[in-house]
Amino acid sequence: MDDAMNCPKCNSGHTYQDRGLWACPECAHEWSVEDGGASAETSLEASVRDAHGNALADGDSIIVIKDLKVKGASSVIKGGTKVRNIRLTDASDGHNIACKIEGIGAMNLKSKFVKKV
Ligand SMILES: [Zn+2]
Repeated sequence: MDDAMNCPKCNSGHTYQDRGLWACPECAHEWSVEDGGASAETSLEASVRDAHGNALADGDSIIVIKDLKVKGASSVIKGGTKVRNIRLTDASDGHNIACKIEGIGAMNLKSKFVKKV
């Protein structure tokens, strides 16, 4: 939704959005709006599936099934890399798994490139 929303503190309609936060110039209040983010996560658990169609859940361990280039870095996640304790995310670009990979760091993966351990 693009419509400006009223400030929850002073009810001013002159609010604006700035880097995902809403701000009110009248009382300087800032707040974030999670547009169904929390509720989407619940339904997401049923829909994130690995390369073989197995449902993935928070805390699962997975194996990367092909070499994946890391965006903005020279490193490559090798096929066969095991990743523990994944977290499902609601990413619009298809990177629906957030995880931490040893030697590389925090990373988002696409579930179709992994398989459940
Ligand atoms: Zn305000």
